[in-house]
Amino acid sequence: MSEERNTELEAVAELAKRRGFFFQSSGAYGGVSGFFTYGPQGAALKRNLEDAWRDRFVTREGHMEISAPDVMPEPVFEASGHLDGFDDMIIECPECGESHRADHLVEDNSDVEDAEAIPIEEVQELIADLGLVCPACGTELAGEPVEEFNLMFETSIGPGSSQPGYLRPETAQGIFVEFPRLKEYARGQLPFGVAQIGNAYRNEISPRRALVRVREFTQAELEHFIDPEEDEPPIERVADVELPLYSAREQDKDDGELQQLTVEEALDEAVITSPWVAYYLGLATGWYERIGVDMSRFRYRQHLSGERAHYAADCWDAEAELGGDWIEITGFAYRSDYDLSKHGEYSGDDFTIFKQYDEPQTVERATVDPDMSVLGPEFGGAAADVREALQALAERDPDAFDADTVEVDVDGDTYTVDTDVANFSVEEVTQAGEHITPHVVEPSFGVGRLVYTVLTHAYGEDEVAGETRSYLSVPTELAPTFACVAPLVSNDADLVERAEDVLDRLRSAGFEVDYDESGSIGRRYRRQDEVGTPFCVTVDHETLEQEEYDAATVTLRDRDSTEQARVPVGDLVAILSELRAGETTFAELLSDPNVHRVA
Ligand code: AMP
Repeated sequence: MSEERNTELEAVAELAKRRGFFFQSSGAYGGVSGFFTYGPQGAALKRNLEDAWRDRFVTREGHMEISAPDVMPEPVFEASGHLDGFDDMIIECPECGESHRADHLVEDNSDVEDAEAIPIEEVQELIADLGLVCPACGTELAGEPVEEFNLMFETSIGPGSSQPGYLRPETAQGIFVEFPRLKEYARGQLPFGVAQIGNAYRNEISPRRALVRVREFTQAELEHFIDPEEDEPPIERVADVELPLYSAREQDKDDGELQQLTVEEALDEAVITSPWVAYYLGLATGWYERIGVDMSRFRYRQHLSGERAHYAADCWDAEAELGGDWIEITGFAYRSDYDLSKHGEYSGDDFTIFKQYDEPQTVERATVDPDMSVLGPEFGGAAADVREALQALAERDPDAFDADTVEVDVDGDTYTVDTDVANFSVEEVTQAGEHITPHVVEPSFGVGRLVYTVLTHAYGEDEVAGETRSYLSVPTELAPTFACVAPLVSNDADLVERAEDVLDRLRSAGFEVDYDESGSIGRRYRRQDEVGTPFCVTVDHETLEQEEYDAATVTLRDRDSTEQARVPVGDLVAILSELRAGETTFAELLSDPNVHRVA
C-alpha cells in the first residue's frame, strides 16, 4: 500500500512540475529548498481553493476579512511568545555540517510518534541510544548537542539595524494586534470573526516533501472572538455531521482506533470538550468533501497533552494521508484569552470589549486612598508603586486590611504600611457593564498542504482506448481550467473559425476556457484530463454541416467518464453554467431526450 502511495506522490510531483502546478523556485540559480512557485495551473487551483475557503468560512458565516503586512516589529513577537518559544530542535552533523530536525530523526527511526513533545535532553539521549547517524553522510550523531532553533526570519526595518522586524510566522498575529480597531468595526459586539488569507514564513530546519514543509506558505486563518460565558455556536447546523475522530485517549492505547461520531455524540461523550471547536470540525468536514479531499484518507487527531500549547484548552488537527503518512492540513485550537491578554499587557492598548449588563449592577468595591505625605518620605521613588500594590491587594484580599499593618511586595522588596495610612474602605458602585477579554477559537488552514492533498487525492490512472491515461478528478469548482475548446483538426480554416467563435462566447460568459489545436484530438483530451479540466468542447465537421448557426451541435466531453454528448452551440452556455453550479451532472445531461449521446 505504502509503496503504491509513494509512487502516487512521485507521480503527482512529476506532474506538478511538468504541467505547471508547482516547482522549486529560483531554479536558474540552483533553487533553494523550502520555496516553491505555483505555475499557471497551480496558481489557478490555489486561487479557486482560497475562494472556496472564503465562501465557506467568511461569506457564509458573516465574518470580516483583512489583509495585514507580512513584516511586523519585534514587540509583537515578544508579546506573542514567538521570540522566546517558536523553536524547533536542531542537531548539526560534526562531519558534513548539515543541520537536521532532531525530533524528526527520532520519529523516522523509531516507534516514537511525537518527539516534538519530548524534552530536548531526552531527545539528545534517544539519538545516542538509537545510534542515529547523519542522513546526509552517515556520521554518528551520539553526543552532539541538540539545541533550540528559532524559526522566525529576521529583517531590519528601515536603514540601519535599529528596528528589528520579523516575517510573520502565522497570519494570526496580524489579526490579534489590530483587535482594538477591529472591535470597533464589529461595533463592540461579540461574537465576531476576522479572517485572513496570506503568507507566513518559517525558517524550517529541513524542508521536505514538496509543499508539505516549506519556508514560505499561505495560510487561511480565522480568529473567532467570543464571550466564553455567554456565546454558543449554532451547533444544531452541524449536529449530525459525522466526524472521524482519533482522540488523545485512543492514541494513548496500544490498540487505539478511529471513532466515527456525530458532532452531537462527540460533545455528549466529551470526546471534544469545546462546542466551538466541535462546530468548526463539523463545518470543515463538509468543506473538505467539497474541495475533493478523499474522506477515506482523512481524520481529526486530537493533540496529546504534551503537544498542546499551555493556553490551548482543546486542539484538533485535520490530517490527510499522503504517501502513507498523516499530514496536518489544518489546526483547530481553542486559544482562550491568551493572545489578546498578552498584547494588552505588552502594548498597554485596550484589547478588551465592554460588556453591557442587562440591568446596571451595584457591587462593592474595595479601595485605598493612601496618605502620600506619609508614603512619599518613607518610601521615596517606590511610593507610587506601593500605592498601586495596596490597591491591588485591596481588590484581591480585602481581609488583609483588618490587621494594624499590611505588607506589599514591589519588585521583590517588601513594604510595610500602617492600615490607618492606607485609608482602606469599601464603597458601593453602580456599574453598567464590565470589560472582558474575549476568548479566541482558531481554525488555521495551510493552503499549500491543501493544494497538495487535493492534487494527490484527485490523481488517478486508468485505461482509455487501450492506453493508460492519468487524470485529476478535481471538483469543477477548483479546476484550474473549466473547459477546453478545440477544432477537431487544425488544418481546416472553417473548423478553426467556428471553434474560435465558440471560445469567444464561452469566455464572454465568464468561463475560464483554454483553446488547444495542436496534436490529435485524443492527445488533447489526455492533456486536459491531466490538468483536471472537467469538460472539452469539440467543433467537428458535423457542426459545420448543420445550417442553422445556434442549432449546430458540438461535442461536449466529460473528464471523469470520458463520455460525450452532442449539444447545440446555442445551449452551451446554459448547460455549462448548470454543470458548474452543480445544478446538473453529466450523467443527467446524457439522459436528457434532447441530448444526443456520442457512441
Ligand atoms: P500551525 O500554526 O503550526 O498549527 O500551522 C497551521 C497550518 O499551517 C498547518 O495546519 C499546516 O497546514 C500549515 N503549515 C505549518 N507549517 C507549515 C510549513 N512549514 N509548510 C507548509 N505548511 C505549513
